[in-house]
Amino acid sequence: MVLIDGKATANQIKNEIAEEVKAITSKGERAPHLAAVLVGNDGASLTYVGSKVRSCEKVGFDSSLIRLPEETTEQELLAKIEELNQDETLDGYIVQLPLPKHIDEEKVLLAIDPKKDVDGFHPSNFGRMALELETFIPATPFGIMQLIERYDIDTQGKHVVVIGRSHIVGRPISILMSQKGAYGNATVTVAHSRTKDLKALTQQADIIVSALGIPGFVTADMVKEGVVIIDVGITRVEDASKEKGYYITGDVDFDSVAQKASYITPVPGGVGPMTIAMLLKNTLLARKWNA
Ligand code: NAD
Repeated sequence: MVLIDGKATANQIKNEIAEEVKAITSKGERAPHLAAVLVGNDGASLTYVGSKVRSCEKVGFDSSLIRLPEETTEQELLAKIEELNQDETLDGYIVQLPLPKHIDEEKVLLAIDPKKDVDGFHPSNFGRMALELETFIPATPFGIMQLIERYDIDTQGKHVVVIGRSHIVGRPISILMSQKGAYGNATVTVAHSRTKDLKALTQQADIIVSALGIPGFVTADMVKEGVVIIDVGITRVEDASKEKGYYITGDVDFDSVAQKASYITPVPGGVGPMTIAMLLKNTLLARKWNA
């Protein structure tokens, strides 16, 4: 069994990005610049945005954190977005989700200039991805594809079962893995909450991508020998014995499933660290494409 080390792979990608940034700045050009917009005080969002900004600094990017109060109106946020769209010193930005309930997320995502949409959530970028055109691929599926590529996992003609159909993970990864290419050409089944007899599907799967967010959902009896497991789930489980009062776990019952798997991602330390690395990669691409 090979443990897929997302942390090490993400660090390798960040080092590669840092080298490219040095090459850009040594020519006297400005470094890539990523901004993050955070509305309100959601604890988890603050943690995510904080680590995104710190990662920018590590690779030599410029970064800006734009914090707006919880009571910011939709109009005010849209005005801020227009300002960011016009800012020529900014290559890409993200609007951290979820937004407060009084703001229409779809309206906000549609207002982001697709050229600066490094999250790859704008319909025009998502459409370009589906059509295999050059674009920003959403960071989590992009990170999964990088892990598959860097561990040289064979996907040709393999049966992939994706559990979950969200717009940020399940749907895009199912599109990417079914596309033509060295790490595509898989036959993909997308399972979701209405799927009947999921176990019959997962038992046939060569590769399982689990993105539903239920700890211990994928058990050893659901998988075949030699399966490749990509566990995207991240759930905080309260635990008073831990310093933080909780621990992080994935969707897969790791200890039992690992015994049957040929490759498996741990949680934490698997897909999670890749997500930020790929956001940085998209920002570097934005810097190049918009230059
Ligand atoms: P989501 O929460 O929007 O949706 C969950 C999906 O699971 C739905 O499509 C639903 O149909 C499916 N589902 C629910 N119950 C099911 C069942 N019993 N059988 C089959 N399918 C079922 O999904 P999301 O936003 O993609 O998040 C999924 C998990 O991935 C969460 O734990 C989230 O925290 C994690 N996540 C991790 C990263 C990362 O960087 N590693 C990024 C995004 C999301």
